[in-house]
Amino acid sequence: MTSRMTPLLENNEQFAGTYTPVPLGLPAAKVIVVTCLDHRVDPAIILGLKLGDAPVLRNAGGRVTEPVMEEIAFLAFLGQKLSGRRATGDVGVEVAVIHHTQCGTGFLADPDFRREASAATGVDEATLEASAVGDPQISVSADVERLLASPLLPPKMGVSGYVYDLENGRVTTVVDTQYR
Ligand SMILES: [Zn+2]
Repeated sequence: MTSRMTPLLENNEQFAGTYTPVPLGLPAAKVIVVTCLDHRVDPAIILGLKLGDAPVLRNAGGRVTEPVMEEIAFLAFLGQKLSGRRATGDVGVEVAVIHHTQCGTGFLADPDFRREASAATGVDEATLEASAVGDPQISVSADVERLLASPLLPPKMGVSGYVYDLENGRVTTVVDTQYR
């Protein structure tokens, strides 16, 4: 039986042919990436990440939501456990938040669009509004601040912010690594 997955599963056959397992441990790049789920924004491709390099958390806009903060807290805990650093409080990884230009969530800044999207999806308007990325420089700065202000963020964990420009493929630094 063929489906839209058929060519992708064929790709996987090729991948599995030369696959080398990566043991569970700290991510090699020592970075947790938070970014948009947009199919034009794939951190593995734009940042050259390989298997085992970095956990990636993706949602609409790449926004630092409560669930994202909970995931980061858990990943930090797990990383400390796996690396035996729990006692020292050294998290060993930092967070990079990457927003991008031309984000589809930008439409959500328009109240009419937002109302229609809410009615169609059942997601409340406030949640939709919170995921909007209009100016990525502004939203990424706000999200770095939000993470730094969260009690869920482990002490000594660095956070930085970037914008990925879909026009030229370039990632630029908006907020250098900050600590709480
Ligand atoms: Zn987006």
